[in-house]
Amino acid sequence: MPFQSQEDSSQSIASWQSTAACLQAVLLPLVFVILHGALLLASGRHAWLVSLIFLTAAPLMAGTACLYRARRDGYVRGWIALAVAMLLWAGGMAGNLYAGLVLDSWSGVGALSMLLFILYGVPIILVLAVPEHEHWLVRLIDAGLALGLGYLFFRHTFAFATMADASPENVGRLRSMFDIENLFIVLFALIRFHASADPAQRRFFGSLAIYAILYLATAAFINHLHSDVYYGQWPDIAIGLPFLMLGGLALADAGAGDAASRASLSFEQAVRVGGPLMLPAMLLIVSAVLVRSSPVHAIAGCAAAILGYGFRNIFVQIRSLNAHDQLERLTLVDALTGLANRRQFDASLRREWLRAHRTGEGLALLMIDVDHFKLLNDSFGHPVGDRRLHDVAQALAACATRASDIVARYGGEEFAVILPAVTPSQAMLLAETMRGTVERLDLRSPAPLGHVTVSIGIGHIDHVADGDVAALIAAADAALYEAKQCGRNRTMAHPAATE
Ligand code: GH3
Ligand code: MG
Ligand code: MG
Repeated sequence: MPFQSQEDSSQSIASWQSTAACLQAVLLPLVFVILHGALLLASGRHAWLVSLIFLTAAPLMAGTACLYRARRDGYVRGWIALAVAMLLWAGGMAGNLYAGLVLDSWSGVGALSMLLFILYGVPIILVLAVPEHEHWLVRLIDAGLALGLGYLFFRHTFAFATMADASPENVGRLRSMFDIENLFIVLFALIRFHASADPAQRRFFGSLAIYAILYLATAAFINHLHSDVYYGQWPDIAIGLPFLMLGGLALADAGAGDAASRASLSFEQAVRVGGPLMLPAMLLIVSAVLVRSSPVHAIAGCAAAILGYGFRNIFVQIRSLNAHDQLERLTLVDALTGLANRRQFDASLRREWLRAHRTGEGLALLMIDVDHFKLLNDSFGHPVGDRRLHDVAQALAACATRASDIVARYGGEEFAVILPAVTPSQAMLLAETMRGTVERLDLRSPAPLGHVTVSIGIGHIDHVADGDVAALIAAADAALYEAKQCGRNRTMAHPAATE
């Protein structure tokens, strides 16, 4: 008797589900097309009505599928933008339907429909052009540019609100603008698809690219070859195909079609940085198309493209400079104590050494080590140890009142203080203040004294001449060792050996 393991059966369920999804993605559009064709044949002089109904339904179905996909898949904003685009397109076609059914005249509704067809591209262009996680001000500028683009398209269209009034020259220009818009969408969808690292984004841009290619081809076919034919003819079936394809892609298995290859990092970065150029570039091209028929709008479009892109870059630059500063600060600060970290300490010590060398002043270095800290960690646990380290660090920092004193975490439970231009007795005074302050904090510890104490070694050099900063560190280390040897909770000093 054949035996099927649990893994086998879950695999077969998954493959059955994906087959069902594919069937759904292929069958539904097929039934839709056959139904459209059959009703076109059967409806005689009402064929135009059949087409308008089917062409309103197709994007609505695609939009619903996109919304469904948005709930299932990771790239929500993309699928929602596509759903909005579908709704706008369906709105345009519904306007045509309304004009055909209710009104004798086309003029008002015809212009509104045209506006909706034009605005259809705006959410798609936005989702293609605006990088993720951008500041709201930048998104606002992008949205403004995208709307400006839609407006320029519309301005141009409004000049001949109905296609019947349009001069062949104007109609040609309008068609070329639609072609430009569709071509841009195809190009950017392909680029974003290739550059996306995230699988959900990749699936989205892949689907969008397939849809956009089909839409470009269909729009070119209808606009250039069949524009004189009114609705109710066979080419209408072609108009619905891109939407049916999009619906199918949105319904297809969300996990399928993950291409394994990834774009190189530099290409991904180039797309992220170059993507925002898409909107202004389109605005410039459309403005150029309009320059003869509507020079004022063309100039306004160019100005908006340049200024919008400029302001956008300013915001992005400011944010990236801030982020850079913040990162740089983080690389110099110890996360646990908030003191200067070892990297900053090393740089500061070198700098102060050179300064002392120039000025001939003295330089002191305190090495501070928490006594019996391992015992504290072992008894109370690391989190308590961390809190003690933080409290000791704050106490030490509070004692160093001169702006030139640098208190740092040297590593582990060791701290270091650089004291420029001090005498040995001044250094000893401050070290003792620090030691006494930590003791008076009375932080509970299993150490023999019952509270946290520190031992301090002072390295000092009167006149920095030739030689090495290592000599100062060695002197402070040796003094600290002595302080530990002599019983801890005390301060010892050593002059640095000079050549
Ligand atoms: P001594 O008086 O001789 O300095 O004894 P000690 O126990 O303080 O010396 P030792 O160097 O043996 O122990 C230092 C301990 O500090 C060991 C390590 O677990 C602990 N330590 C280092 N960094 C951290 C930290 O960031 N957090 C905590 N909680 N413990 C740390
Ligand atoms: Mg230590
Ligand atoms: Mg210690």
